[in-house]
Amino acid sequence: MRDTVHSPPAIVPAGRKFTGSDRRAPLREGLQSCGEYHAGQTAGRFYPIACVALEVTQRCNLDCTLCYLSDRAEMTYDPPLSVLFARLKTIYSHYGTGVSVQLTGGDPTLRKVEDLEALCREIKRLGMRSCLMTNGIRTSRAFLTRLAAAGLDDVAFHVDMTQERKGFTSEVELNTVRRAYIRRARGLGLRILFNTTVFEGNFDDLPALARFLRDRPEVAFVSFQMQADTGRGVLRERPEMITQDSVARSIEAGYGAPLHFGTAAVGHSKCNSYASVVTAGGRAVSLLSNQPLVHRVMAALEGVDDNQDAHIRIRPKVGRMIQRHPLLALRALGHLGMSVARLGTGLLRGPVRRQAVFIHNFMAADQLEEDRCASCVFMVATANGPLSMCVHNAQRDMHLASPDRLDGPTGPSWWNAAVPRLSNGPDLPELSDPALAPMKRLKGQMRALRQARKDAS
Ligand code: SF4
Repeated sequence: MRDTVHSPPAIVPAGRKFTGSDRRAPLREGLQSCGEYHAGQTAGRFYPIACVALEVTQRCNLDCTLCYLSDRAEMTYDPPLSVLFARLKTIYSHYGTGVSVQLTGGDPTLRKVEDLEALCREIKRLGMRSCLMTNGIRTSRAFLTRLAAAGLDDVAFHVDMTQERKGFTSEVELNTVRRAYIRRARGLGLRILFNTTVFEGNFDDLPALARFLRDRPEVAFVSFQMQADTGRGVLRERPEMITQDSVARSIEAGYGAPLHFGTAAVGHSKCNSYASVVTAGGRAVSLLSNQPLVHRVMAALEGVDDNQDAHIRIRPKVGRMIQRHPLLALRALGHLGMSVARLGTGLLRGPVRRQAVFIHNFMAADQLEEDRCASCVFMVATANGPLSMCVHNAQRDMHLASPDRLDGPTGPSWWNAAVPRLSNGPDLPELSDPALAPMKRLKGQMRALRQARKDAS
């Protein structure tokens, strides 16, 4: 551990802003400028952004060793609903319908369930998708049932050894928690996702964890996020053993099949690796094994997509693609059939499901790469509009202190995370100094540092 807390860089590049009528153009141009807009690129071609995080609180009921929150985060106030609604409107104005809005934090379940219901309803009303990003501790069946009824689309559970949950010594033991969460969420019409931070402490468990997730037909999406030196967590630099390649090989070992991460891209190749598989009864087969075919299908879909103004809606486009390219459609259908057939005896043991596998490579706060930030597919809603998640993590306190301006019938009002409610004037206080906070308000490096000083004195 360092003996001082992490200092974010003073100047960092921001994401591109939407200015024209083609919502996908800014991301496409960002990817083109760094040579990442190739035949397998889906970002900027089929959607204007992969997802946008709406941080509804900075509080959390855990203290992960790789937390991306800041030292000041625990001393802030939650944004009022009016501020969150205004940010949703901004997300919509940038990216249109279909974008996935991640209700996140901190842990969003520390907000009142009524607030989360209101946000789910508003996201639905705007034609976007909602995803609850949570450690799952407070997500009872009743809680998830209420959110599903309010329109929640996805729930993403973050479970891993960085959380230091009491009584668990490995990712395999944590599967008990994962099973319980699946039971709480299944049958509610929610897509179930799992997030895992990859670090030295669980690297050897990755194949077993991947196998476990492969064999859960309820799980639609699994994401592995590589350790990054950002935020308040006490673990810092990523060990050399953790690379995009080594993580991909470990996941493939668990899935028992090559996953062809290089075929289709979601944004910059140094940021994200994507695979799509069919699974059944303890077997998995990659759907992206035939790269030329995948790229031809993508080109054909692009050719029948006449609305650049939002996320592509694949299903109606498939019908038109079949009409225009019947031979290609037949080949794609044949490939799908062959992939399912290769599940072999797995077909006798369980249902056939599609699962997406994602590896995410966040950047260290002091090593931001401008081209990746400018072609980021994973944004955070801030007072000043959407911003790359890596940039936001590197300068979180600056954005928490930056005021949102709301224009109402009686004039403007302002809010920042240092105040509990809207203010009539724009002169808002600075965030509290964590050096002055009581021990119980501290987490991550600040708590460890304070504890170490206490122990030494
Ligand atoms: S958040 Fe960071 S790592 Fe992720 S896509 Fe954006 S720039 Fe890349």
